[in-house]
Amino acid sequence: MRVAVYPGSFDPITYGHLDILKRGAAIFDKVIVAVLINSAKQPLFSVDERKQMIEESIKQANYKVPIEVDSFEGLLVDYLRNKDIHVILRGLRAISDFEYELQVASINRKLAKDVETIFLMTNNMHSFISSGSVKEIAKYGGDVTDLVPPHVVTALKEKSAIITP
Ligand code: ADP
Repeated sequence: MRVAVYPGSFDPITYGHLDILKRGAAIFDKVIVAVLINSAKQPLFSVDERKQMIEESIKQANYKVPIEVDSFEGLLVDYLRNKDIHVILRGLRAISDFEYELQVASINRKLAKDVETIFLMTNNMHSFISSGSVKEIAKYGGDVTDLVPPHVVTALKEKSAIITP
């Protein structure tokens, strides 16, 4: 069984992430979306909120292969080793992503020689979407309906109401 882990912050999940997930689901027998618990970052959504939004998006998308949602803390390669998984799935939007992704993939290769990172390119129409810009737009009341699924729009509105009185 070919299994891949798709790791990330997913703060929150966007149509860009979902585009990569759909492409991953067409290649692998199972994909685990793994939310990184990173104490150094100040996320807008809690890990549980992020996982719930991902679960809801998966329910709506109806993938042909199982998609699991999980979270992890610490080194990604340790998470993979514990689960005996050898593939990391990552998305590339533009050349600007490449330098960072190359660095991370190289470190992971050094730490775990039996792990490969597979990069998939998003549809051009989603290539400009980032969780960061979605949060910035939502914070100022801008329209994010083309960038994230409806349940994420609702969650962003609820959060924005709290953070911008
Ligand atoms: P991280 O904080 O680890 O970069 P993100 O949640 O921002 O986590 O992204 C997870 C993965 O999804 C990364 O590989 C990132 O390049 C990819 N990604 C994010 N947005 C898009 C998008 N719009 N199109 C394609 N890939 C994307």
